[in-house]
Amino acid sequence: MDIDFSEINYLVDPCSRTLHADYQQFLLSLTGLTVIDIKGESSNEWRVISTLLHGNEPSGLIAVHRWLTTENSLPQPKANIRIIISSVEAATHQHLFSHRYLPNGVDLNRCFNEEAIRSSKDGENKDIDGYIQRAKLIETAIREVNPRSIIDLHNTSGNGPAFAVSTLISPNVLSLASYFCDTLILSDISIGAMMELDFSCPVVTIECGGSADDQSHEAAYNGIKQFAQCDIRSALPQDKAVQILYKPLRLVIKAQRKLSFSEHDESYSGVTLRKNIEQFNYGGCCEGLLLGWLDDNGLENLEMLNDQGVNVIENYFRMDDNKLVCATSIKIFMASNQTDIVRSDCLFYVVNNVNNHL
Ligand SMILES: [Zn+2]
Repeated sequence: MDIDFSEINYLVDPCSRTLHADYQQFLLSLTGLTVIDIKGESSNEWRVISTLLHGNEPSGLIAVHRWLTTENSLPQPKANIRIIISSVEAATHQHLFSHRYLPNGVDLNRCFNEEAIRSSKDGENKDIDGYIQRAKLIETAIREVNPRSIIDLHNTSGNGPAFAVSTLISPNVLSLASYFCDTLILSDISIGAMMELDFSCPVVTIECGGSADDQSHEAAYNGIKQFAQCDIRSALPQDKAVQILYKPLRLVIKAQRKLSFSEHDESYSGVTLRKNIEQFNYGGCCEGLLLGWLDDNGLENLEMLNDQGVNVIENYFRMDDNKLVCATSIKIFMASNQTDIVRSDCLFYVVNNVNNHL
């Protein structure tokens, strides 16, 4: 599929015909990177909503479309809202919302740090120039309105409750997170994502939960409504208490090791995770909890690097007989049993389970 990466389409206060009757028809009517501007009460202040950086994560688009079409006329937000719909081609390729990025493409949300993507394995033998160009167009579309806050809406590959991710914590970041969820992860993981760029305003990524879960679309919709209506002359009012979790680590399986999912110990080689691993995205995991099974190589199959690049897996996990269990009380995020995704990214994210309510 040929993509015109230099293309950007603008819609200003679109009419109901342009928005179509449902989000699927609306998405199918778009031809590429699309920016929608909605006029607000205050004409000199802007807020940005980013959606579909990943083509298989529909909650943001579904919620935006619902917000734009739920009344007979367009909503009137407190400030101007710029909505950016990024990976239209991937989202409409073959079945709707089934591709994170196009076959032979690269992950757009790894292309906001040009140097990093060019030197990474992901960029090898692929035409990454177009994706870098699109990332730059998105960055420019954000910078040209000099927004006061930015929300970037995603879904997780497995099911779980919504949570927010930010690279820094401020009262405004906590407020933005509170419109969508009750957990904020402070992350210093650098992967070339949009939220790592400095826009001189809060940038909060919202992982709305699983892509097929109505609850995720609902969380996105309720959050957008509050985001659009809140008054931010001073600090944004916080909607509810938000728990902060500091600096998640990524649990990865080493290359060439086999990864399986099962309800029982099958004596497979490599690593076998419990088939229902996603359920541990909800709530915490206490010390001794069984997460799966390991072959004779034990924890050596896995790796968890801290910010100094030291493998700290033994602080968090241990092997009892051949069982993989938690060595301490932890919280896990984004566990999924979709083998291809967890193998290319990580099995899940881990943080110490300290209760830190602000
Ligand atoms: Zn995503």
